[in-house]
Amino acid sequence: MIDTPLQPEFTSTERAILDPFVTSVDARIFGLRNLPEVVKGALFSRYSRSEKSIRRILLDEFIHQPESGFHQLVTAPSTDAADQIIATKHAEAFYDRVLVGYGDDSVAELGGAHVACEEISNVAAKILEDARIGISPLEKSTRYVSFTTKINGAYRYVREASIMDSPHAAAYISAMDGLFEAYSALLQPTITWVQQQTPRDADTSERAYASATRAKAFDVLRGLLPMATRTNMGMYGNGRAFEYLMTRAGSHDLAELHDIQSSLADALGALIPSFVKRANSPRGAAMRAYLASIRTAGASAAAPLNGHDSPQLPSVQLVAYQTDALQRVVTAVLYPHADTDYASVAAYVATMSVEQLAAIIAEASGDRAVRFHKPGRAFEEAHYTFDIVADIGAYRDLQRHRMLTQERQPYGVELGYSVPPELIAAGLDAPFRAAIDQAIAVTRRIRADLPTASQYAVPMACHIRWRFSLNLREAFHLCELRSTPQGHPAYRHVAQDIYRLLRDVHPELTAAMRFVDMHEYTLERLDAEKKLDIKRAALK
Ligand SMILES: Cc1cc2nc3c(=O)[nH]c(=O)nc-3n(C[C@H](O)[C@H](O)[C@H](O)COP(=O)(O)OP(=O)(O)OC[C@H]3O[C@@H](n4cnc5c(N)ncnc54)[C@H](O)[C@@H]3O)c2cc1C
Repeated sequence: MIDTPLQPEFTSTERAILDPFVTSVDARIFGLRNLPEVVKGALFSRYSRSEKSIRRILLDEFIHQPESGFHQLVTAPSTDAADQIIATKHAEAFYDRVLVGYGDDSVAELGGAHVACEEISNVAAKILEDARIGISPLEKSTRYVSFTTKINGAYRYVREASIMDSPHAAAYISAMDGLFEAYSALLQPTITWVQQQTPRDADTSERAYASATRAKAFDVLRGLLPMATRTNMGMYGNGRAFEYLMTRAGSHDLAELHDIQSSLADALGALIPSFVKRANSPRGAAMRAYLASIRTAGASAAAPLNGHDSPQLPSVQLVAYQTDALQRVVTAVLYPHADTDYASVAAYVATMSVEQLAAIIAEASGDRAVRFHKPGRAFEEAHYTFDIVADIGAYRDLQRHRMLTQERQPYGVELGYSVPPELIAAGLDAPFRAAIDQAIAVTRRIRADLPTASQYAVPMACHIRWRFSLNLREAFHLCELRSTPQGHPAYRHVAQDIYRLLRDVHPELTAAMRFVDMHEYTLERLDAEKKLDIKRAALK
C-alpha cells in the first residue's frame, strides 16, 4: 500500500488543466503525455533544482506563465501541425530559459525522437548503427525483403558521388547492376531448389512454408548485395545520443554521411532542437575535427602493417582473456553481499579450490529455465577479445549488439568470399561467382584511387575482419540468441565458435550457458513460421 501523498491536493480547476498532460493527477508514479519532448525534458530537469513535484512545476512554471505560451496547449491540446510547431518553439524558448546555468549533458537524455532514414546505403546504415547507448535502430531485413525491385528503372543502390565523378563510374554501375541482376535471376531457381530439398509436410501451412523457403533463398543470395545497397532504417533515440551520432556522422570522410548529418540536423531540429543544437555549434565542429584526427592518427600508425592480406576462411579466434576470471567473477558474486572491502573478499576467494569456486558459480547462475534468465552483473567481470573473420552479411547481423565493443576493418575484397553451400549443391554458384568476381575486380580498381569510397562496391559475401570484445554476461545473451535455430547459418557459426572457445578456457563459468544451440538446420525459419501460424490463429 502506498503511504499518504506528500503533495497538496490540486484544486478541481487545476486537476482539469493537468489531466490532458499526465496519466494520473493523484498517483505518485505517472506518465507525461501530450507535451513536446523538450517540455518533458525541461520538466524533468527541474527535479534536480526544485522541491516541487513535476505536476506543480507544470502548472506554476509552464501553464500559469503567460510568456511560456502554453495556454495554447492547455486550452486545447492540438493535433494541428502548425500549432505543434508553435508549441515546440515556445517550449524550446522556455526550455532554454529554464536551463540557463544547468548545462548538464544528461538533460538532453530526457527527450527523444523517432527518425526514419530511407534509401541510405548499407555503408552509412552501419555507421549509424555503430551507436550503442541511447539509440535503438531497426533496419530493413535482407531476409524478409526482396532486393529485385527498381526505382525509375534503376536497381536500389547508392551511386556514390566520388565514384560517379571518377573514371570508374561506368565500371561501378556495370558491376553493381551485375550483382543485382544475378540476385534477381537466381531468386526463383533458389526458392525452387530449397523447396525440392525440403518438401512441405502435412503439419506445415502453405503460408509458413512459402515464408520459410523464401527467407532461406534471400539468406542464400544476400551475399550478392553490395554495401551500396539502399536500405531503410528507423531509430528511436534520446537527444544526447543523437547529438553524438550527428557529430560522428559529420566527422566522417564520406559525402553520404555529410548529407545524412545535415538531414538529421533538419529532422531533429524540428523535433528536439534544444537537445541537438550543439552538434552544429563550434563545440560540435571541434568534436568532429577531433574524431577525424584520431581516426587519421590510427590509420597512419597502422600503415606499415598494410598491403599483405590474402584470402582467409571464416574463423573465430580468442585472442585475449583473463586467466583469473573465475576468481574475479566469484569475488564479484560475493561482494554486494559482504560487509568488507573488495581486497578482503578477493583474498577470501583466493583460498578456495576450483571445485568450491565452481559451486558458487553454479549457485549464482541459478536455475535458468529460459535464455532470458541471465546471471547477474558479477558475470561482467570476465572479459574476452575475439578476432573474427566472417562474411559481411554475418558481420551486419552481429554488429547490432551494443553491450560490447566491436570495431571493423574496412570493407574490402582481399580476404576472399563465401559461396553458400546451398548454391553449390543446387548447381547455381557459377552466376553468383561471376557477379562477385566482376565486383571484386572493379572494387580493386576503385580502391587504388578512392580507398574509402571503394567500400560501396564490396559484395556482402566478401569476408571482413573485426575485433569483438565482450564480457561474459553479454556472451550469454549473444551466444544463446545468435545460435537459435531461426538464425542465419553464417552468424550462428560465429556464435557457436565463441561459445566453444569460452567453454574450453572457462568451463566453470560457461556451465550455465545451456541454451546455445549447436545443431545445424536446413530450413532455419520453418519452426518460427509455424509458431507464427499458431499466434495468428490465436489472434483470430
Ligand atoms: C533472428 C533474428 C532476426 C532479426 N531480424 C532483424 C531485422 O529484420 N531487422 C533488424 O533491424 N534487426 C533484426 N535483428 C536484430 C535485433 O533486432 C537486435 O538488434 C540484435 O539482435 C541486437 O540484440 P539485442 O538488442 O538483444 O542486444 P544487445 O544490443 O547485445 O544488448 C544486450 C541486452 O541489453 C539490453 N539493451 C541494449 N540496448 C538497449 C536499449 N537501447 N534499450 C533497452 N535495452 C537495451 C537488452 O536487454 C539487450 O537484449 C534480428 C535478430 C535476430 C536474432
